Amino acid sequence: MSGNMIVICAPSGTGKSTLLNRLKAEISDLVWSVSCTTRPIRAGEVHGKDYYFIKPETFEKQIADDEFIEWAKVHSNYYGTSKRFVDEGLSQGWKMLFDLDVQGADAMKRIYGNAAQVIFIEPPSIEELEKRLLARGTDSQEVIAERVNNARRELENKEKYDHLILNDDIDQAYQKLKAVVERILT
Ligand code: ADP
Ligand code: 5GP
Repeated sequence: MSGNMIVICAPSGTGKSTLLNRLKAEISDLVWSVSCTTRPIRAGEVHGKDYYFIKPETFEKQIADDEFIEWAKVHSNYYGTSKRFVDEGLSQGWKMLFDLDVQGADAMKRIYGNAAQVIFIEPPSIEELEKRLLARGTDSQEVIAERVNNARRELENKEKYDHLILNDDIDQAYQKLKAVVERILT
């Protein structure tokens, strides 16, 4: 199993960003795909590093100009992956890393087949997911309720992805993730 595109997918609050930050720090030959989004920037996030934070009008113009290989509305905001980035990565032979929702992961599988390997990370339970979102303290009650509802739907199809990892204990989950990524990269 080898792929040049690794897509990490998880319901919001599972711990994906925590795991991805460790992965990015430890595996330096992965080139991170910086998505565009219209959601408000969170404390600690950096424009151009975490996301390109853009206005809805700008995002809609970029859709019309066909600048995204995939885009989706997730939790009421737009998110999209740059087509130019992916094309450049493919032509340069980069190993690329993506953080996408289920719609984005499905689109990448449709377009690239096995060259795109989707790793789905699941929380121990919906209750634990809600606790993590509350503890993170970055989203309103309303936003958390929407994310928890979306999580129920996303978890229904977890078995269809290439790899499935449970994030119960963070260190164990990270070791499993790293091993899967290393296997994909060889
Ligand atoms: P995501 O990127 O999937 O939305 P985060 O990485 O922001 O999720 O994690 C959500 C919250 O849960 C954060 O406060 C994080 O520190 C915490 N968290 C992540 N993994 C675990 C874990 N295995 N056990 C307990 N808390 C966790
Ligand atoms: P967050 O707002 O918590 O950073 O991300 C919300 C969701 O949007 C996450 O599930 C994340 O994976 C997803 N996401 C981030 N960037 C993209 C993208 O470019 N395309 C798609 N389809 N989803 C994305």
